[in-house]
Parts: sequence; C-alpha cells; structure tokens
Amino acid sequence: MTTEAEDRPVILWFRQDLRLADNPALTHAAATGRPVIPVYILDPGSTVRPMGAASLWWLDKSLRALDASLRERGSRLILRRGDSEAELRRLIEDTGAGAVFMNRLFEPDAFARDADIAHGLQTEGVDCKGWNAALLRAPGGVLNGAGQPYKVFTPFLKALLAAAEAPPPTAGPQALSTPAGLASDAIEAWALHPTRPDWSGGFDWTPGEAGADAALSTFVARGLKSYSVGRDRPAEPATSRLSPHLHFGEISPWRALHAARDAVAEGRVPAAEAEKFVAEIGWRDFSAHLLHAFPQMTAAAFRPEYDAMPWREDPAGLSAWKRGRTGYPVVDAGMRELWTTGFMHNRVRMIVASFLIKHLLIDWREGERWFHDTLVDADLASNVQNWQWVAGSGADASPYFRIFNPVIQGQKFDADGRYVRRWVPELGRLPDRWLHAPWTAPPEVLASAGLRLGRDYPRPLVDHAEARARALDALKHVVAGRDVEGD
Ligand code: FAD
Repeated sequence: MTTEAEDRPVILWFRQDLRLADNPALTHAAATGRPVIPVYILDPGSTVRPMGAASLWWLDKSLRALDASLRERGSRLILRRGDSEAELRRLIEDTGAGAVFMNRLFEPDAFARDADIAHGLQTEGVDCKGWNAALLRAPGGVLNGAGQPYKVFTPFLKALLAAAEAPPPTAGPQALSTPAGLASDAIEAWALHPTRPDWSGGFDWTPGEAGADAALSTFVARGLKSYSVGRDRPAEPATSRLSPHLHFGEISPWRALHAARDAVAEGRVPAAEAEKFVAEIGWRDFSAHLLHAFPQMTAAAFRPEYDAMPWREDPAGLSAWKRGRTGYPVVDAGMRELWTTGFMHNRVRMIVASFLIKHLLIDWREGERWFHDTLVDADLASNVQNWQWVAGSGADASPYFRIFNPVIQGQKFDADGRYVRRWVPELGRLPDRWLHAPWTAPPEVLASAGLRLGRDYPRPLVDHAEARARALDALKHVVAGRDVEGD
C-alpha cells in the first residue's frame, strides 16, 4: 500500500527542546494536519560529547515529563536508543514518514551530524526542516560590521537585542495524532537515574516544562527586583535557577526575557534589574555563537598563546578540589554544593575555577570536564566559554593576572557565612571573623568551635601569596612581551 505524500506522518525529533510551548518544530508539525511521531533518540556512540551523569539524571525526569504532556494530548514519546541516523531511517521505514522536523542544535559536532543526516534524507525525498528554538538568535545572525562573529560581549549584546525579533509565543497544540503500535524503549531500561550508588538524593529540582515555568514565575515574583545585587550572594535564592531548564529546552529564552520585561511594564520591577537578567541570557547566546564560529575552543585556548601555560600535574590537588577539601572554605562550600545538588552559584563557580587554574595551576580543561559531569546545567558552550573567561584565554575574558583571593571573596560575598556554614558544617561554630580563613584563628577559638585543623577540616592546600606569585610567574613565561602586573 502506498501512502499519499500529504498523508505521510511527520517525525518530530526532540533533542534539547523538551517542551510543547514555543516549540516551532512541533507547531509546524501539528500545522501539517498529518500524524506526528514524537521521538527522542539516545545516541551514546555519536561524535557529540556524551552527557555527564548529572545531565542524564535530568534527562530521565525531563523525558518522563514530556511523555506525560504528550499523552494528555493523545500522543506519546517514542524512545529509541542507537545511532541517530539509523534509528530515524528505521522509523521512516516502519511508519512511511515523509518528513523529519527538528529544532536545531548549534554545538559544532551536533550541527555537522544533523546536517549530514538531513542531507542524506533529503536526497531520498524525506522533507527535513529545522528551526531555532534554543537561542534568542541563531548563530550567524549576529555579525559585526565586517560580517564576522563578535568576540566582545558588549557590542554583541547590543547587536543581539537590536536584531532579535521575538517569535510569537505559542501554547503548543491541544491534541496530536500519533499512530498506535509504534515500538518504544521503556525509559527505565535506559537506567539514566544513578543506582550504584544513587548520589542524587540532594538534587532538589523539577525537570520538565512545568518546573521551568514555575522557576521563572518564582524568580520574577521574588529575585528579579534586586537581581543585580542578589545575584552575587550565594546564600540567597536570588537567581532564576533556569540554566538546566534552558539547556534542555524546557523553556524558551524568549519567554524568560518577556517575563522580565513584562514585570517592568507592570511596575513590579526596575528596568535596570530586568535588563541585567536579559544580559545574562545574552551571555548564553554569546557562548553559543562563539562556539559555533570557533569550534576549536572546546579543546584549545581561544587565545592560542595560553596553551603554552606550564600546567601542573597534581592529581592530589585536583582530587582535593573535586571533593571540597582544599582548606579554603568558600571553595570547598562551592564544590560540595555542586556534588550534592548538581548546581553551583555563579559567583562561586568563578571562585572555584580561579582557584583550580591559578592557585593550583591545573589546566582549565580538567575543571571543565568535572563540571560537565556533575552540573545539571552542563552546557558545552557556556561551560567552555566561562572556563576560558576565568583562565584569561577566552574571547572576552577576565585578565589572567586578576587572581581572586578566596578569603576576600568569601568575606565579601558571604559576609555572614551562611553559605559556607551550610555546605561546610564542620566550620559551623567558628565565628564570622575567622570563618573564611580558619587557619588564622587563635587556638582557643578553634578549640571552642570544636575544630582541629588538619583533622576535622584541612589546612590550606596552598598559601595564597605563594600560589599567586607562582601563577603570575607562569604567565610571564608564556605571554612573551606582554606587560604583566598583578592587582
Ligand atoms: P541567572 O543568574 O538567573 O541567569 C539567567 C540565565 O542566564 C542562566 O540560567 C543562564 O542560562 C544564563 N547565564 C547566566 N550567567 C551566564 C554566564 N556567565 N554564561 C552563560 N550563560 C549565563 N552555565 C550553564 O548554563 N552551563 C554551564 O555548563 C556553565 N558552566 C559555567 C562554568 C563556569 C566556570 C562559570 C564561571 C560559569 C558557568 N555557567 C554555566 C554560567 C552560570 O554560572 C550559570 O548559567 C548560572 O549560575 C545559572 O544559574 P541561574 O540559572 O540561576 O542564573
């Protein structure tokens, strides 16, 4: 039996767009009036960097949430595991599908893979279409006067916001018709949730579209009005915590931008606060645009001279950093927050990254890898761009010679010690004055706080002044001819 082209089903290939609202591929698929086959393919063997463990935890819950939403609309999510192209071809053969609709991925490896697949299917008469649902603007759409990608954030943001045209918000279809009887894996069989051991007990998140909407509403109602100051206080719930939702495409960045600006229009939030938040969403676009234009930045320094940095091999130091046992309380609090919750506050991400790179002189790629495995919001573009920002080797980076003092950073941004006491409870009884530098506390203070340094809590792994001098020295060796000064 042959199926008329106009009746042939449309495969809706879900990837990092796990939502029904504001989903252009879904809207277009539904508008064809043809049966729609929503599929998610787990492709562990592909050239695309595999997800880390925390991301797989998130994916498990997000796919379940998406399936539940699709079922409410008379459809369901088909799960397949294997090579993306082979699985799509199998599905086309089984269903007679005549089209594959997808929202595009812009990470270079995924982009290249998808282009190959689309090209192959297209030449065989399968209509492949892609849309941008992930970013305010697709890479290539924001270029400088010379037609080149921006390498500096401020002019990029200006051009991004001037050029970006908001797509009209869509609620997603009320009903979808999906053929019955299609084979699908059971999500339990994918074993994405850790079991041996299950270290995710402290993950307090609601993956999925409803969780994303709730996070946005809570943030707009509470944190947004004082975001520019609150966002630097790691003990406060002052930021949106939208990053994993945005990474998995459970919410459109446009929806977040509009919610912030609507709150301004309604007089609930000062415009400057909303625009600071919009600028942070702009950093996400900037990271994705940069990586798309400069794919080598995942593996090499964006400023090549930084690849001559004399990195140290220090497995013990790296392990102490990962486990939150460096002896610097704010660093250890951050690393323990990461391990326990799958998340770390942005200010503390900068502090711990600086500590690894500059105090320990360990290659930023080691830190990037650990973050990739343990963050629920691990995102290749944002992660690499931010690690290179801290390392000084990025496109628009913090100068390498700006070396955070972890004691001063702690005292400044966690003045009352709530953040450190939460994640490093063994320091809980130490008075504020010594909390961020326990080794400076007099013996009687340590004794009355019940703290034996070197036993209950480590002594500092490195001395700040010595580490700083070593880091600056390393820089002198690699940036020949540059004027390098500490600050
Ligand atoms: P909010 O302050 O509410 O910001 C809103 C959104 O803007 C975020 O959800 C995020 O999508 C975006 N955003 C904010 N800051 C940045 C930034 N500096 N770069 C890019 N986008 C930003 N973010 C990731 O999403 N994935 C990563 O893998 C990642 N790795 C990082 C590694 C390092 C070393 C550093 C310093 C930062 C990293 N960030 C990463 C950026 C930032 O820390 C997180 O996006 C932010 O902490 C998420 O919290 P939030 O959603 O509450 O942010």
